Amino acid sequence: MTKDKQLFGTFGVRRIANSILTPEFASMLAASYGTVFQGKIAIGGDTRTTTPMIKHAIISGLLSSGCDVVDLGILPTPAVQYAVKKYYDGGIIVTASHNPPEYNGIKFVDEDGIGIKEEDELAIEKLYFDENPLRASWEAIGNLYHNEMIIDEYIDEALEKVDIQAIKDAKLKVVLDCGSGAGCPTAPYIVQRLGCEIITLNCQVDGFFPGRNPEPVKDNLKDLIATVKELNADIGIAHDGDADRTICIDEKGNFVLGDKTFTLVEKQMLKENKGGLIVTTVATSSAIYDIAEEFGGKVIATAVGDLLVARELKEKKGLFGGEENGGLIFPEFVYGRDAALTVAKILEIIAKEKKPLSQLIDELPVYYSEKKKCECSDDKKTEVMDNIAKEVATLGYEIDTTDGVKIFKDDGWVIIRPSGTEPIFRSMAESDSQDKATELANWGKSLIEKYK
Ligand code: MG
Repeated sequence: MTKDKQLFGTFGVRRIANSILTPEFASMLAASYGTVFQGKIAIGGDTRTTTPMIKHAIISGLLSSGCDVVDLGILPTPAVQYAVKKYYDGGIIVTASHNPPEYNGIKFVDEDGIGIKEEDELAIEKLYFDENPLRASWEAIGNLYHNEMIIDEYIDEALEKVDIQAIKDAKLKVVLDCGSGAGCPTAPYIVQRLGCEIITLNCQVDGFFPGRNPEPVKDNLKDLIATVKELNADIGIAHDGDADRTICIDEKGNFVLGDKTFTLVEKQMLKENKGGLIVTTVATSSAIYDIAEEFGGKVIATAVGDLLVARELKEKKGLFGGEENGGLIFPEFVYGRDAALTVAKILEIIAKEKKPLSQLIDELPVYYSEKKKCECSDDKKTEVMDNIAKEVATLGYEIDTTDGVKIFKDDGWVIIRPSGTEPIFRSMAESDSQDKATELANWGKSLIEKYK
């Protein structure tokens, strides 16, 4: 966590729309971004009621700074990242991802489609607070373009990377829940083109999210789980609000943790490619390491944040990466969490292995995890973290300080770290039994409570 950043969180800016995140704010911030990233900038957004308002303010700000702008419309965050990587000099995505409907946010990416670096965030903030972005003269104002073909291109290229015929032959029955979010214009068509029988839930664009909250956690997916069971489907698939995360429900109606999906796809990628470099964060399951060892992979762990994983994958020419929350990264396609290829890949695995999803999951290494959180105001986070780090250093355990502090005990690990987006600390633990994982997570939480 950086003390210096005032506006940016882990990936962009996220606020209640039209209170702090007003058109004036968005326009000035976009002009500041346009000052740093000149050229042709792509813009896209999710289905929120406030997205058009903020998007148009951003377009104005970018044009004012002399950038050309290409409006891509309503589409998943990774589809914008895909477009930028292929064609443009930068990109801005208007989305609050999984947050409730009253929120919105702005994600900024560089010319590779990766979330911008901290140094660029600081440069943009300075221009914003100094109210000093580049203002082009009238004859140098940027032009506004539209690209309505990018969604088809994005889908086509994702599908090129899987064995479509094998998936078609498996005749899978799929229940898809886009949560009325940005996956609506892509995900149903992907499943359809893979020859699956598809039943859709919440696949109409709606910024009020009437069917469910945009966060794909178990409590929000009760309808999906019930539908999978009722219709004897092979799999249920859910996306978050900006369709960069994918959550699966197995054919028995069990919620599959993001770690498990990650491990399942990792195994397949390593098998297909005969090994390779896997990048993840320090908060992901040890199962990632077990699978890498078994199938000729090597693992690098970064601090938490999908853009850090994406950047490492690019720099080290990695094969595949991901996070514990169901965000998977295929660097040869998109330098960020992608949902289109994740869905296609999971369906391909079920089809090729000719096994139900529950069995494929059962075959993976088994670990138990527990997450606890503890409120802590943003201005106290650094002090609390320093005190915890000092105390655990005296205990003699192996520790990793890539992000917060990760403590390895004989029977598992616990990581204690401040959230980059909320006024909380998290304590996440993993062990070979649920009781031990809970005990470790509670111990982590007790340390936070001691110093907060
Ligand atoms: Mg998201």
